[in-house]
Amino acid sequence: MNGKSTTTAPIAMSRLKGKVAIITGGASGFGEMTAKVFVQQGAKVIIADVQDEKGISLCNEIISSSNNHAYGNNDDDDDGEFISYVHCNVSDETDVKNLIDLTISKHGKLDIMFNNAGIPGDLDPTIVGATSDNFNKVFNINVYGGFLGAKHAARVMIPRKSGVILFTASVASLVAGESPHAYTMSKHAIIGLMKNLCVEMGQYGIRVNAISPCGVSTPLLSNALGMDKESVDRLICESAVLKGVAPEALDVANAALFLASDEAKFVTGLNFVVDGGYSVTNPSFS
Ligand code: NAD
Repeated sequence: MNGKSTTTAPIAMSRLKGKVAIITGGASGFGEMTAKVFVQQGAKVIIADVQDEKGISLCNEIISSSNNHAYGNNDDDDDGEFISYVHCNVSDETDVKNLIDLTISKHGKLDIMFNNAGIPGDLDPTIVGATSDNFNKVFNINVYGGFLGAKHAARVMIPRKSGVILFTASVASLVAGESPHAYTMSKHAIIGLMKNLCVEMGQYGIRVNAISPCGVSTPLLSNALGMDKESVDRLICESAVLKGVAPEALDVANAALFLASDEAKFVTGLNFVVDGGYSVTNPSFS
């Protein structure tokens, strides 16, 4: 690895100024980093997760960094609520409805819905070893959770004729043999929803996109593989086209930032791949 790690904020601080964003799975990994980047860029962010302690402590961390002027949000109309946490199981419709309704009552609008929460499920790659319980669990969170988030976000975005809906998919939405069946199917499915929704939402000026990262050493992947960060980074570097560059959560957060910002105002229906070229070397890429 060549030490190109970037843990500091991008320089421009107002790319999401005035926007209200929900990030599901926002307490950890990609969601955590995206929450930090979005707040740095002037957004009001609601972290939605089931890890309450982690979500609340992340909010406190962001608030204290903000007090140290590391964040760019504190403009005149700031009501002091630029980061908050809401418990939300994305596969429970009552939770998701409450999340959206709370956001509207607190901020008056929703500009960005980042449906990011997901789980890898069991790692047995065989169809015979796969269980129905695991299949249902993975689909409930990775697919139905994204569907519910999109549905309730669209409910409040359509009347305003404005908004951005994002999903975290995966290179498993593009390549075969990358992950167990249920996970691969779930990520293909979310791309199907993203494309269909892109067509339906276009008439309202609502953009719909997905991000497909390769493996990144977040808690999800390190836990699933039972490997430490360095070993995961080494494994990923060996399979990517870009050698010696370890991917990090910030790469995904920066993709989300671009897609969520007005800089991407004509970008919709895109599966934005962040994988160091991994998927172009895989024959199942199309
Ligand atoms: P992570 O485990 O660090 O974070 C995922 C977050 O989602 C956690 O905070 C978890 O509590 C939350 N979550 C899980 N189930 C939930 C539910 N039912 N309701 C609400 N929140 C829930 O993982 P990550 O790597 O940041 O993963 C984020 C997304 O990225 C997932 O959709 C994952 O499939 C996808 N992804 C990850 C990788 C990778 O290598 N890390 C690669 C490609 C895609």
